[in-house]
Amino acid sequence: MTAQRYLLDGVRPLGGEPVRMLLADGRIAAVGTDVDAAGAEVVDAAGLHALPGLVDLHTHLREPGREDAETVETGTLAAALGGYTAVFAMPNTEPCADTAGLVEQVWRLGRDAGHCDVQPIGAVTVGRQGERLAELGAMADSAARVRVFSDDGNCVSDAVLMRRALEYVKAFGGVVAQHAEEPRLTEGAQMNEGALSGVLGLGGWPAVAEEAIVARDVLLAGHVGSRVHICHLSTAGSVEIVRWAKEKGWDVTAEVTPHHLLLTEDLVRSYDPIYKVNPPLRTDADVQALRQALADGTIDCVATDHAPHSLEHKETEWAVASPGMLGLETALPIVQQALVDTGLLDWAGVADRMATKPAAIGGLAGHGRPLAEGEPAHLVLYDPAAEWTVDRARLASRSTNTPYAGHALPGRIVATFYGGRPTVLDGKPT
Ligand SMILES: [Zn+2]
Repeated sequence: MTAQRYLLDGVRPLGGEPVRMLLADGRIAAVGTDVDAAGAEVVDAAGLHALPGLVDLHTHLREPGREDAETVETGTLAAALGGYTAVFAMPNTEPCADTAGLVEQVWRLGRDAGHCDVQPIGAVTVGRQGERLAELGAMADSAARVRVFSDDGNCVSDAVLMRRALEYVKAFGGVVAQHAEEPRLTEGAQMNEGALSGVLGLGGWPAVAEEAIVARDVLLAGHVGSRVHICHLSTAGSVEIVRWAKEKGWDVTAEVTPHHLLLTEDLVRSYDPIYKVNPPLRTDADVQALRQALADGTIDCVATDHAPHSLEHKETEWAVASPGMLGLETALPIVQQALVDTGLLDWAGVADRMATKPAAIGGLAGHGRPLAEGEPAHLVLYDPAAEWTVDRARLASRSTNTPYAGHALPGRIVATFYGGRPTVLDGKPT
């Protein structure tokens, strides 16, 4: 098949003035008002914003081991429909991605699916058990070139192991992504600890269980001169600690999920396990602090924590339901609603927080690049004026645990181009 050329007519890069953009040979070949369309398929992009293809630092693809909930194929198709051209796959699969062989397997599955780049994250400790370091160097040297390591789902709670991991990854410019949860402080936890958890009779997950680890780990990163990334920041207190660490000049980055930017613990009153997530939904004051921190750059990026679960694990009583919710197909509309429509972030800011920063943190060259001539043609075309209603039956994910079913959301992902090739056109997989 010869390489297809696409001419995006009337497209508005980062919401700016309309231009024509030519995609050829996997690159942005030309940008301007008088770009020649000869030989190209013309895509009417009038009114559509172009953003760099989104990059998710925190996706659970569930393969191998839990293909009933998601596969690399279905998860990356969901990613493409959400405007993503790269996702980082968390290692809490079965078996756990803690060896070079396993991360290469996930990386190859992603390449074969072809919907976006799949960059595996390696486990920090063997089996994510927190007892001894996994073969970090072998994963870094593998074909998957792992640069991000995380025991996500579990915290690397042993301070000595965390220190050793931080020291180890310095050798190849890696980063440890921490699920910050002091495990003793969250035993039996079911929701945010506060007045409401008392009223509802559910075990509390206190803010300090997150903040204590965030504080410890930014200190460790500063001490050994290494990079730490804090996953799914959820409290106003964590924001203060990250802000302080950055003022010290330490190499600390942080992410926030779309759901922590929008939803609050009050939804737990329904006892509907769709709202059970780890870390839990917090208070409105936390949501406001997280929005401000994302806007001012204290929090570097949005990461979905896309966590598909089968019905048997989610449609059950609250206490035994698995924590987690889908995120890939709704992230950009949620960010529009929470940050853009509220005036906190412009479209250049969205591109920075959802593409440029996560690509940089994960060391993924070629993604999150400017929409300029010569750059790789990873981009999303988005209609911020559209509105749609989330329909569980129409999600590409193999699971349906979205908290937004039946909700009207702003914005529509119209097309996604991955390496110059459309993975999504007119809102549908190609
Ligand atoms: Zn986590």
